[in-house]
Amino acid sequence: MASALSSVGAWRIAALAVTSVVLAQCSTPPPPPPAATSPPSVTGTSPTPAIQPVSTADLGPSWHPGCPIDPHDLRRVDVDYLGFDGSTHRGALIVNEELAPDVVAIFDQLLHLRYPIAKIRTVDTYPNADDELSMEDNNTSAFNCRDIPGTGRWSQHAYGGAIDLNPLLNPYLDRAGAFQPDNAAPYLDRNRSDPGVLHTEDAAVRAFTDRGWRWGGDWRTPKDYQHFER
Ligand SMILES: [Zn+2]
Repeated sequence: MASALSSVGAWRIAALAVTSVVLAQCSTPPPPPPAATSPPSVTGTSPTPAIQPVSTADLGPSWHPGCPIDPHDLRRVDVDYLGFDGSTHRGALIVNEELAPDVVAIFDQLLHLRYPIAKIRTVDTYPNADDELSMEDNNTSAFNCRDIPGTGRWSQHAYGGAIDLNPLLNPYLDRAGAFQPDNAAPYLDRNRSDPGVLHTEDAAVRAFTDRGWRWGGDWRTPKDYQHFER
């Protein structure tokens, strides 16, 4: 019986509480309109740190045991870039820790120059981190644990020390006339002036070379118009 009495008591208390809530709601003036929403964040003020560590899992198939750099020495750099649609987008590059601040500064400069970039995704987005697929997709990327085709030597990409910029528009061309990617034939004509096509002394090229990076478009052979390394 005691439990039944206390249930009744509990009901009364609950009923009183409901009444007082209702009364409180009736006597409280309507809340003020919500404060104006804060303006959208301006480029470069994202709260997420632009430079972050990466794990082996983050790198997916772009890294494997035996690679010449440890994931501990790589960084993910989030950058804003101007898309070909005229809007600003955010992409990610995996680079050597020592070059990460440089990469932030370079891509900030490219954005201010309004140099358009098709997309910036880490190469593990593509099956087996396949560089050909990334290039055919005109994807700008950096780290990839791979060798220089036909040499058996590690590419600078395998150290996180190279970036390929708009690779479809800026192909690789060897002495024999072979080129990469396979769909880049229209862009072997380097007199083209399409947005994104790189030429000697372009401001976009100098965003790299003024910071001590080398451009593959300056090499005698092969020509690697997409490639910047440090
Ligand atoms: Zn490259």
